[in-house]
Amino acid sequence: MRLCTLLAILLSSLMVFAQPATPANDSGMPDLEHFNPDQVDKSLDPCNDFYAYACSKWLKANPIPSDQASWGTFNKLTIWNIAAIHNTLEQAAQPSSSRSAADQKAGDHYASCMNEAAINKAGLSPLKPDLDRIAALKNKSQLPELVAHLQQIVRPANLNFIDAQYQGVLFGFYNGPDFDDARMNIGVLDQSGMNMPSREFYLNDDDKSKEIREKYRNHVARMLELSGETSQRAQADAAAVLSMETALAKAAMDIVVRRDPKNINHKLTTEELQALTPSFNWTRYFAAMHAAIAPKYLVTAPDFFRGFEKLVASEPVDHWRAYLRYTLLHLSASSLSDPFVDESFSFYGRTLSGAKEIQPRWRRCSIFADTDLGDAVGQAYVARYFPPANKEKMLQLVKSIETALGHEIDTADWMSAETKKKAHVKLAAQVDKIAYPDHWQDYSKVEIKRDDYLGNMQRSSGFEIGRRVAEIGKPVDRYRWNMTPPTVNAYEDPQTNTINFPAGILQPPFFDANLPDAANYGAIGAVIGHEIIHGYDDQGRKFDADGNLKDWWTASDSTSYEHRDACISEEYTQEVPEAGVKQNGKLSLGEDTADNGGVHIALAGLENSLKSQGKELDSAAADGMTELQTFFLAYANVWCGELRPEAARTAVLTQGHSLNRYRINNVIGNMSEFAHAFSCKAGQPMVRANACRVW
Ligand SMILES: [Zn+2]
Repeated sequence: MRLCTLLAILLSSLMVFAQPATPANDSGMPDLEHFNPDQVDKSLDPCNDFYAYACSKWLKANPIPSDQASWGTFNKLTIWNIAAIHNTLEQAAQPSSSRSAADQKAGDHYASCMNEAAINKAGLSPLKPDLDRIAALKNKSQLPELVAHLQQIVRPANLNFIDAQYQGVLFGFYNGPDFDDARMNIGVLDQSGMNMPSREFYLNDDDKSKEIREKYRNHVARMLELSGETSQRAQADAAAVLSMETALAKAAMDIVVRRDPKNINHKLTTEELQALTPSFNWTRYFAAMHAAIAPKYLVTAPDFFRGFEKLVASEPVDHWRAYLRYTLLHLSASSLSDPFVDESFSFYGRTLSGAKEIQPRWRRCSIFADTDLGDAVGQAYVARYFPPANKEKMLQLVKSIETALGHEIDTADWMSAETKKKAHVKLAAQVDKIAYPDHWQDYSKVEIKRDDYLGNMQRSSGFEIGRRVAEIGKPVDRYRWNMTPPTVNAYEDPQTNTINFPAGILQPPFFDANLPDAANYGAIGAVIGHEIIHGYDDQGRKFDADGNLKDWWTASDSTSYEHRDACISEEYTQEVPEAGVKQNGKLSLGEDTADNGGVHIALAGLENSLKSQGKELDSAAADGMTELQTFFLAYANVWCGELRPEAARTAVLTQGHSLNRYRINNVIGNMSEFAHAFSCKAGQPMVRANACRVW
């Protein structure tokens, strides 16, 4: 349940995927971005600001489009993948007797989403039965069944991917490996229920935060008005919604505290859970979720549920109706008519991410088909767009970089032989998952209709939630994926001890079969290194080879580790002037450690590969550069990009990935190999006097 990703997954999908309005034509594909060493600005000094040296020409030639929250080299790959999904869906959407079952589901889902005229004509009526259920709430004792119903008709939050992902109805209920026995799934009850991106948005006291809260209250009122409330009523209800969500935020666990898994490992029996929240009947809730009663539940944040209890006990029933009504409207907005889509984009897109216009409908519909029926879409995508040879080459790269970490462990002068032995056991037990799952999810039980987009979203979400709940108490499947195949991202999961690289990222500029080793090790190699190191960062190192939360470090090795890690968290704690906020190095520590160590082991992997070809890092490569220079430029190239100030602010506050220029400059500034490659001298900005290194 705590997966460490390569890239930020920012807020709701509505915001992340704000894309250019120019559609790729139906059969054509947009260009992929290829690494090009000529792209550097040779008038600049690489030792002064390597991000500027490697990226400024690209950034100048590629300004953030008006409808984008961020723009970088890998965005082009994301767009390429969405166009690829689009092509497969356009074909799958053609009714024909020869369509496979998976194509029928994916194609009809897409077709129902594309039927904008029908969706607009229906207005709010598809959601009316659910809104009526909320309106019929007469007594708070009816909350368990109502909350369970609502949780089963909205898209399940990707709770796995961010340490604090709050989107959801009140709280999250899902399966996850037991911290103390990772072979088995336990039922997890997690904090959620806030409809802004994190608790800081409710609690911070600066002017910008106050301004955003005011805009949020207005947005909630407008959504309620669109749903038929009078203006006066909508204003009052919006105030109640903000007040209840603020109470949830106050009760919720802090994002940095949550990073330490032992802080969220609270196991409660049903009786203890009931005693924690006497006003909410859990037996009836679990029955309504079709979940068997389990001996124990993992309650990540007991204080959050104490706050939840207070709200159930004290808030009047009309406030509860207002909160649930807005939450349902918000979480269903992308499947409703244009006024709801536009109002939702206005706050979550414009205000929170700075995008100016919404992406075209065909892109949104392609993304939602992938979100709702990932394996049906993914199956067609990999058959058409993923070259099988990439999987073989990728496996070789992964093995070479794992070998490099093994060597790094052997030579670490700060680790005892005892801890080294256990680190090797963990590394050997790691499972490498490449491209797509061995077994595809069967969606035959999900009814998909060509004329019922909201219903398709509700039924596919209900199916996924039911699947997760049914796994509680059952063995964990290490081979299940938590990302869909076309996703441009990667993750490490310490509880299954796996590293996972979807097919979507195994394309240029990350992976390019036509480029030399130095370019691939610098790009996808550093990504592989990043994910491997996550197993040994400040979170990952707390899990053993079997994925259990078990300390396998000697006390003195732990102390040495923490000393080294503190150097990194201090280095990354810095003001981000354009966003008006400070980056918290304790929040981004795992990601920064993975970036720093990942590049080291990718470089070691390259050195070994070159050796086998009779070459060295200083050997001349193409374009008048050395192999080592090519490696660092290819590394920087995948991080060329920037965020709008609104999106940067949201990113810094909500999740643990440092902004792109720090992912370049802080990493290389810690490396003597970089100084050597570009002949940088002590005292120059890219040569840190106090260089940090863990791995
Ligand atoms: Zn990561």
